[in-house]
Amino acid sequence: GRVFDPAALRADFPILDQTVNGESLVYLDSGATSQKPQVVLDTEIDFLIRANSAVHRGAHTLAAEATELFEDARETVAGFVGAAPENLVWTSGATAALNLVAYSIGNATDGRGLPASAPYALRAGDEIVVTEAEHHANLIPWQELAARTGAVLRHIPVHDDGTLDLHAAAEIIGERTKVVAFTHVSNVLGIVNPVTEIVALAKAVGALTVMDACQSVPHLALDLPALGVDLAAFSGHKMLGPYGIGALYGRTEVLEALPPFLTGGSMVTTVTLDEAGFLPAPQKFEAGTQPVSQAIALAAAVRYLEALGMDAVHDHERAIGRRLMAGLRDLDGVRVLGDAAEGTADRIGLASFDVAGVHAHDVGQFLDSRGIAVRVGHHCAKPLHARFGLTASVRASASVFTTDDDVDRFLDAVAGVRSYFGVEGTPA
Ligand code: PMP
Repeated sequence: GRVFDPAALRADFPILDQTVNGESLVYLDSGATSQKPQVVLDTEIDFLIRANSAVHRGAHTLAAEATELFEDARETVAGFVGAAPENLVWTSGATAALNLVAYSIGNATDGRGLPASAPYALRAGDEIVVTEAEHHANLIPWQELAARTGAVLRHIPVHDDGTLDLHAAAEIIGERTKVVAFTHVSNVLGIVNPVTEIVALAKAVGALTVMDACQSVPHLALDLPALGVDLAAFSGHKMLGPYGIGALYGRTEVLEALPPFLTGGSMVTTVTLDEAGFLPAPQKFEAGTQPVSQAIALAAAVRYLEALGMDAVHDHERAIGRRLMAGLRDLDGVRVLGDAAEGTADRIGLASFDVAGVHAHDVGQFLDSRGIAVRVGHHCAKPLHARFGLTASVRASASVFTTDDDVDRFLDAVAGVRSYFGVEGTPA
């Protein structure tokens, strides 16, 4: 096979060719948002220049071309996760996709004339299970749904090493469980969770599975139907694509059974002043004008990743992850969150850590002064930080263009943080 050469890929990402605070940019914040290769930028602007028009309705040539590009993009992005196009609903991102599911279940639940036996309807006392490692986007919609329906929210705890407590999961997921919502890869820990085991536990009790695939779709080869999850959400801007586009994958029976969340134009069959009929999925969930140019550019991002090969991407980012972890473990006063031993858990190229005696924001500014971009704060996972006794951490996260040299520059800089802030010595 071809040799994966991250340094050569840098030429595809125009933003990397700049200095920040006098140093060449080291971008280690792809977990927050990825950079976009030139081909993605070109695809979006070309569409806007040549073919921009409303999809699914115009009788004119440009509208037909836009519709074809838009639906081709759906096929490309669906195919990237092993799915058929009718199983992929466009959303503005993962947050919108996860809210869509939670609100749809809420709609199935409260008095829309749906039969009491509506699948996925929740009743008081039913249980929704999440993990302790969720991003707020896969936590708060479930808190809200629980509050609206009287369902009870429970969580699967995380071990000290960042892996999920599957023993506890087997106890918690039971007859009352109706939904199991979990992240494939935590955006704080970088550990790949055992999907097969979680899905098996959920299936055994007939619970719906909802997977947050935000941090897995960009970094590893994924076949969502083969994983057996019912629903999965991801964001375009984290996978070399544009802002404002993402997707909800759903199994056919599940998408058929769930009622719409948003209603309006483009998702109906007949409409009278009194009532409306809905198109089948995915249109049923795509009310209103869609992010067309963004969807088409996301397909370009997917083709870029496919050309690299997702197995090669994962191998590369796993190696970067190992280098990050090994380097951070070596530093006095640095504690990595989710420091699972190698062989215990697969991971992506992402690590979050605490520097004893120095606030994460100070670490971030210190690194920035050396041209190194990282994320600081709670990364929208406050409960997970609380579990590790922290309110904030520093996160470094890689992409296809991240080199060993980037990691080494980052590690060298982190090694100097504690002396710079005058907190040298082994912490108590
Ligand atoms: N889940 C995870 C694991 C994430 O990392 C993110 C983005 N930080 C989200 C959900 C939310 O994605 P978005 O903000 O693109 O909707």
